[in-house]
Amino acid sequence: MEDSQKLSLFHKSGVYNFKDSNTVFIDPVRVLNRFYNRFTVSPSTYYPRFFKSLTPKTTVPSSPTKRKRKKRKRCSEESRPLNDREQIALQRHQELRPLLMKAHECLLKSNGLLGALKDLRSESDSCCLKEECECGEQCFVELGQQAPDLVVTLNLCIRDIDKDMEDSPNVQYCEQRSILPVFNNFVVNDTEDDAMAEILNNHYIMPRESCFYMSDLGQIRNLIPAHTDCGFNLIMVDPPWENASAHQKSRYSTLPNRYFLSLPIKQLTHTEGALVALWVTNREKLRSFVEKELFATWGVSYAASFHWLKVKANGSLIGDLDLFHHRPYESLILGYSPGKVKNSDNQSKFKPLKDDHVIMSIPGDYSRKPPIADLLQEYIPGVKPPRCVELFAREIMAGCVAWGNEPLHFQDSRYFVKK
Ligand code: SAM
Repeated sequence: MEDSQKLSLFHKSGVYNFKDSNTVFIDPVRVLNRFYNRFTVSPSTYYPRFFKSLTPKTTVPSSPTKRKRKKRKRCSEESRPLNDREQIALQRHQELRPLLMKAHECLLKSNGLLGALKDLRSESDSCCLKEECECGEQCFVELGQQAPDLVVTLNLCIRDIDKDMEDSPNVQYCEQRSILPVFNNFVVNDTEDDAMAEILNNHYIMPRESCFYMSDLGQIRNLIPAHTDCGFNLIMVDPPWENASAHQKSRYSTLPNRYFLSLPIKQLTHTEGALVALWVTNREKLRSFVEKELFATWGVSYAASFHWLKVKANGSLIGDLDLFHHRPYESLILGYSPGKVKNSDNQSKFKPLKDDHVIMSIPGDYSRKPPIADLLQEYIPGVKPPRCVELFAREIMAGCVAWGNEPLHFQDSRYFVKK
């Protein structure tokens, strides 16, 4: 495909496939925009780090003592002998390095794509739906504890086709309002249009054909379908792993690893099986927990690891590839959950996956992952379109159930612009 064709496809889909490799560049804003009819995702709120770097810094720079301490810590980490786990992590990194370098070279050679990234700022919105974007965000975890019976007003836009007019059916829209419990309840937008949800005077945009269930981990079993043929074919999981950084920034609470062993992956799996996509950080302790304990407990067989390489809008990596504790990439571990199809070995029906996929994108807000469901389509077993669920979600995708204690977080109207 010609570069110009690839670029025009990128502008429409948000996905740019590099030639002769399993490397893609994605613009999450464009990918997400495909889910909405009347709104678009605001690039300046999706990429706050990228846009903030434009405005003069108002934050107080860290003190020279703090900087020295940080530098000293980094040097000591780099100069002291590595322990066994760190040795394994280093080896893993060395094996991965050529693949990541090659992927990055692809991006640096794509002048057309780099040009399109430069335009990101000029394409941006002057204002998002909320007039004042800095106003406080709703904390759903606190709300869930203080007002468990809170309700959401869901405004759906229903298509009403006048069937009497067979030649040119007259499509009209009517608003339907329903009042539903916010917590421990499936809130569904089953229309083909965006829906607006209102909670305590705050507005949240729901994409077409989507659903959220907002609860604590204690209630996750309510997601288990009554019949396994109503289970899920794609199960995406981004757990709140314990991690000094998440804790420090206190963006969300984290949980010890043993809590994730009890996630009901088997019971959520569709009869015909599911692809499980699990985000992990680069901590070797975590990788070995997933490979040796977590997948086995879930009954998931390891298939491959994909890698998310984080770049800036000028194409450079967000940090030094070899910096030990701050790698500019994260991994997505993929495995298959077998389901319950009888009379055949359905494991052999699963499409084999290779470890050579690299996804590049500009990172969004803290710990926000790029939308990957589209990139995994060909590996998802079972029915089409697949039934998808995202566990520990902070946003809602079209065609997907979003579960977590704050799945509306990035659906706040502050993250959107009216078309
Ligand atoms: N995938 C998300 C994204 O791209 O923005 C990030 C998910 S973040 C790593 C983990 C999420 O798990 C946070 O939203 C956090 O609030 C949620 N979480 C933490 N403890 C939880 C619990 N006990 N029950 C449900 N969700 C929880």
